Amino acid sequence: MAPIEQQLAQVHTRIAQAEQRFGRPAGSVTLIAATKTCSVAAIRTAAAYGQHAFGENYLQEALPKIRELESENFQWHFIGPIQSNKTRDIATHFDWVHSVDRLKVAQRLSQQRPPELEPLNICLQVNISNEDSKSGVIPEELAKLAREVAEIPRLSLRGLMTLPAISSDFEEQRRPFRALHQLWSELRQMGLELDTLSIGMSDDLEAAIAEGATLVRVGTAIFGSRPQKNLKP
Ligand SMILES: *Cc1c(COP(=O)(O)O)cnc(C)c1O
Repeated sequence: MAPIEQQLAQVHTRIAQAEQRFGRPAGSVTLIAATKTCSVAAIRTAAAYGQHAFGENYLQEALPKIRELESENFQWHFIGPIQSNKTRDIATHFDWVHSVDRLKVAQRLSQQRPPELEPLNICLQVNISNEDSKSGVIPEELAKLAREVAEIPRLSLRGLMTLPAISSDFEEQRRPFRALHQLWSELRQMGLELDTLSIGMSDDLEAAIAEGATLVRVGTAIFGSRPQKNLKP
């Protein structure tokens, strides 16, 4: 078996076991394969084993890969930091954007979304650990931003995403995800029709599933570790 096939199967097993262990319905968690630094060949291998949703962080790296794979009908998720002068390519080539954290970016994505395409699916990135170095809207400003983004045409506000401070302790991992779930519930109580919690990566997907993840973004556990210079944002 190809390593990617094995590792993908292992990730599916981890997801299924976590769903069962934490009382989540089977199949309620969707896997996005995070393919930053991965070759087109690696993406094709994952696709051969049933993976069709992929997440990319860097536009410059993503665009040639997306073009090369254009005929494949994959679903592309933009999960990296957004520079507002780069929104046109994101609006044109992606199906989802997980890292919207300000109104201006949402407005530009809306204006630049080609009219023949479906509305662009949006998650708001929340700075849940309140670290200065991390992008994301702070919790105090989330409700206002969510209300504004929900009104913007050609965008479909689906939910929230966060990149918490890294921890190897399971309970520590759960805490920021629980806090994000709480914010998500409050937005739903306000009447926003959110269905997506984009939380969990290779090292903390069980904690994320325990706290309600509907979508996990996994790279290393499928494709192996990345070259050092391409660190996580
Ligand atoms: C790289 C990355 C991932 C995947 O991380 P792994 O630890 O390799 O699974 C998920 N989300 C974002 C935003 C990323 O940048």
